[in-house]
Amino acid sequence: MKENDILVHACCGPCSTASIERLLEDGWNPVLYFSNSNIFPEEEATKRYEALLEVAKVYSLQVIHEHYDHQSWLEAIKGQEGEPEGGGRCKLCFTYNLKEASEKAQELGFQHFTTTLTVSRFKNSMLIFSVGEQFPLFEPINFKKKGGFEKSVRLSKELGIYRQDYCGCEFSLSK
Ligand code: SF4
Repeated sequence: MKENDILVHACCGPCSTASIERLLEDGWNPVLYFSNSNIFPEEEATKRYEALLEVAKVYSLQVIHEHYDHQSWLEAIKGQEGEPEGGGRCKLCFTYNLKEASEKAQELGFQHFTTTLTVSRFKNSMLIFSVGEQFPLFEPINFKKKGGFEKSVRLSKELGIYRQDYCGCEFSLSK
């Protein structure tokens, strides 16, 4: 593994577009990691994974696909199901996914990992950083900066990839 290799927890194709461009501009060598057991139903997770594969192809990047385990995610957020978006449930959700990414990064010998979650204007980057920093190897990169969100919208439209209209879990679907 090289010093600039970075495992990138990728939440979906659209958020990955601008994040990948930013990482490449900053001299990183990204490897994408799709581990999103929060997404419901599983068919939706598959759609987002397929969109990510299309993005990865454009930039010639490798994608690692993690086993989908929504039941285990539900257990991790138990008691917080009714929280509003951005609250306690989301903090536990970030914790679940970033723990997976940290463990995968260590298992594969990466020296860094990060997440595309900070692209979204609906997500609090500081909250994501506070969660990520609990884990070894985390790089707090704010992909919203430098017009990242707007760029992700533009690039995903240009590529014609699937863009979801809800965050991911069943609790965000029902709102
Ligand atoms: S709304 Fe999004 S971030 Fe929050 S728990 Fe659901 S999937 Fe996770």
